[in-house]
Amino acid sequence: MNNSTRRAAAILLVILGGAALWWAGNGAPASASANDAMVATIAAARERAAANDPRLKPASRFEKSGWIYVHLEGDAGAMGYQHGYLLGPEIEDGFAAVSAGMMHSTERDWEFFRKAAHEMLWPKIDVEYQQELQGIAEGLRARTGSKMDVDDIVALNAFEELPDYYVPWLNKQQKTANAPNLKSPGNCSAFVATGSWTRDGQIVMAHNNWTSYRNGERWRIVFDIAPKNGYRILMDGFPGVIASDDDFGINSEGLMVTETTITQFEGWDPKGKAEFVRARKALQYAGSIDEYTKIMLDGNNGGYANDWLLGDRKTGEIAQLELGLRAHKLWRTKDGVLAGSNWARDPKVLKEDAPQFDPANKESSPNARRARWEELLKENKGKIDVALAEKMLGDHSDTAQKKEEANERTLCGHVDGSPRGVKEWDWQPYYPGGAVQGKATDATMAKEMRIMARVGHPCGGDFLAKPFLAAHPEQAWQEPYLRDMKAGPWTEFRSGQTPKE
Ligand SMILES: [Zn+2]
Repeated sequence: MNNSTRRAAAILLVILGGAALWWAGNGAPASASANDAMVATIAAARERAAANDPRLKPASRFEKSGWIYVHLEGDAGAMGYQHGYLLGPEIEDGFAAVSAGMMHSTERDWEFFRKAAHEMLWPKIDVEYQQELQGIAEGLRARTGSKMDVDDIVALNAFEELPDYYVPWLNKQQKTANAPNLKSPGNCSAFVATGSWTRDGQIVMAHNNWTSYRNGERWRIVFDIAPKNGYRILMDGFPGVIASDDDFGINSEGLMVTETTITQFEGWDPKGKAEFVRARKALQYAGSIDEYTKIMLDGNNGGYANDWLLGDRKTGEIAQLELGLRAHKLWRTKDGVLAGSNWARDPKVLKEDAPQFDPANKESSPNARRARWEELLKENKGKIDVALAEKMLGDHSDTAQKKEEANERTLCGHVDGSPRGVKEWDWQPYYPGGAVQGKATDATMAKEMRIMARVGHPCGGDFLAKPFLAAHPEQAWQEPYLRDMKAGPWTEFRSGQTPKE
């Protein structure tokens, strides 16, 4: 017998065995426990059969400092299968939290998102990524017996773009009555620096991810991806999602990539290509700032519109791609620093893609953090390195109040401590969101495919769910999903790392 015939035979045997047990158990006094035993037997056999799948051979997983590191390798379908299998329990858990949030904020049911994924997004996804997404669904099913299918996986991958970009656009198109107040998210504080700004004159890049603590506490995967085609990738990410999605990654051709979103962005092109596909493709296939820009512009759907901060360690050049839907702009320099905290700056992008955003309001989270980046980076000109970048990501200086206080206006965000919330993103007072993890690297580390990463608030502070929920009953709907988010230590990860390293 060849491998797959043997596997099929093994599964058939298990099913027959399970059915026999079920027969035996049914009607017998101990039916409940016999039934449980049958379920467990089938589950164990399914996992055993799947674990022998040759597609899993090059893949691996280990946990360190709160992160789950997975190595994926091979063709697209195999890498998807590895992803689904190795992160099966985390994908189911992440999906429950993310889908609950998507349905809560949009007041749409899950079928709506499955339909959008299937009819609008799927046809424009490159075949390679269709195979990878299908592989995830298949690997997940083999591991956990999950009922999630590829439409669920695609909708999960689009969790940044469907609820906060597509739905508000659709509500406007259809003049939906009593539509919820949906706002594009404000994710992240980041910078990229080079030349006379850094200690060694080479590129330094750092980023902290801002999101709800509900999703953010689960945003703790390190993906080491060795694809059959394209460049090797090291990036952080979310279980079940093929792009980094908070976006911090490097590739073996020297590209360094991060971003922060454009606050109060409006717009969507239903004929475009999903952002998560373009972002993954650009990190996998771009070897230069120009190539990166070209891939991101190809089929731009306006989803998850970002200010991309890029570096090319081969040339020492950095760039900012402010990617609106109607307008975009690229700045580049070999001697400078480019920071992001969710504000657009090109007049055309502001006018056409984020008309509600007020760049003059010094009290808002994006602008107060912009002022802090300018101050902090200038103070440290010529001294910026990875160690300093780590400290900057945990900064608690509020430029609007001119004092130290962890809140919605500090580079390390703690909106749960703010009586103001962030109205630009529709985050209510004391919203449980903010900076959920941080990463940093430089050109030397990137050349060796290494990054530093820390789970939880980059300052090291912990978020505790129970006392928070007791104090804020208005967030009770999050209770099943909201967990403690405890900070880990800054830890180095690199491509090809083994569990003992
Ligand atoms: Zn903090």
